[in-house]
Amino acid sequence: MLAPDATDLGYLAVSQPVAGGHGPTTAPDLTAGPAPSPTATASTPAVTTSSTPVRHACSKKNCGKSFGRPADLRRHMRQHDPHATLYSCPFEYCNRKGARGFSRRDKLTEHRRALGH
Ligand SMILES: [Zn+2]
Ligand SMILES: [Zn+2]
Repeated sequence: MLAPDATDLGYLAVSQPVAGGHGPTTAPDLTAGPAPSPTATASTPAVTTSSTPVRHACSKKNCGKSFGRPADLRRHMRQHDPHATLYSCPFEYCNRKGARGFSRRDKLTEHRRALGH
């Protein structure tokens, strides 16, 4: 009784690989392969630009700071500019002084009113 069952299972196992041996089904897949390639090539320049970050370094020797955007460097350079008028908070224990001061006087007034000093 057991012998015929074992033979039957062996036959099913052999028949499965035969079904996957059909060649024509794989042919259309090769044609669809090259299609997405142009799209991948178009996105490549964007990756190259982000992988090479341009650092805008501060020209001051004792500073050594660098910024990713030129606007950030320009804002930072104002801290070194002796001609830039920054309004320092007259409150003794306030850190908004010198380089941390305010570019506009009304901003300082608004700050003092907000903190109550
Ligand atoms: Zn600097
Ligand atoms: Zn203050």
